[in-house]
Amino acid sequence: MDALLSAGLYIVATPIGNLGDMTPRGAEILRGVAAIACEDTRVTGKLLHHLGIKARMIRYDDHAGDNARDGLLALAAKQAVALVSDAGTPLISDPGYKLVREARARGIPVTSLPGASAAIVALTLSGLPCDRFLFAGFLPSKDKARRDALAALQAVPTTLIFYETSPRLTDALAAIGEVLPGREVAVARELTKTFEECRTGSPTDLIAHYTAHPPKGEIVLIVAPSTNETTGEVDADALLRAALATQKPSQAAAEVARVTGMDRKALYVRALELK
Ligand code: SAM
Repeated sequence: MDALLSAGLYIVATPIGNLGDMTPRGAEILRGVAAIACEDTRVTGKLLHHLGIKARMIRYDDHAGDNARDGLLALAAKQAVALVSDAGTPLISDPGYKLVREARARGIPVTSLPGASAAIVALTLSGLPCDRFLFAGFLPSKDKARRDALAALQAVPTTLIFYETSPRLTDALAAIGEVLPGREVAVARELTKTFEECRTGSPTDLIAHYTAHPPKGEIVLIVAPSTNETTGEVDADALLRAALATQKPSQAAAEVARVTGMDRKALYVRALELK
């Protein structure tokens, strides 16, 4: 295979739990490259062992510095180099963005081999609208920053997708319940693994369930668009209430005016009423 692979960077998706989800084409590429850039050589080593592949691994993340990136790109200019992450599709809340950007800038061929990504698996499983969605990565871990991030997404009229960790699940659900009221939420957990589950409901119901049954493992949160937003109406009161949770009435009105294009003075009067 080695001789058949032309030089360049090969982005290879790997399974998010079930090793059977490794694609045959992805495995063949990993078998044929001169080196595999990976986040953690132990994690990728286990996958390679499962696939019966012996390959040179080079640890890489986007904080690795220009020298490490230069070295990998110099190799990719002459030989085939794969990029993988610990699980799922590289670059999606994982390293690789700077490497791919720089490879393209240098004219190094880049190709991407599709496979699992937890965001898409969770979205398709959730039963929530899939026609339009916004993937927002991880929410901040600090409460105020998390609420601000959610408030900034309030006017987005699509399904929202977040990556989460089990210790932060109930805090994230509480913030969603307050900042994005009235939305249906899905908690997709341990996808493709033995204890896969996808539970939908209101944030209050889900908090009650996961307080009684503390969750383990990896989680994707899917938040349905609000009913008003789905029909194209802007729920100014909901936006104002969310903004008022962290801002003064004048700031809240200015923020809502900015995202909706509505009159700032009228919003300020309404913000004082709601306060
Ligand atoms: N690049 C990966 C992808 O394409 O899905 C995501 C990497 S990100 C560092 C890890 C996060 O993805 C986890 O915290 C979790 O939110 C989500 N995730 C990964 N595997 C998962 C799984 N099997 N079940 C549920 N969520 C998962």
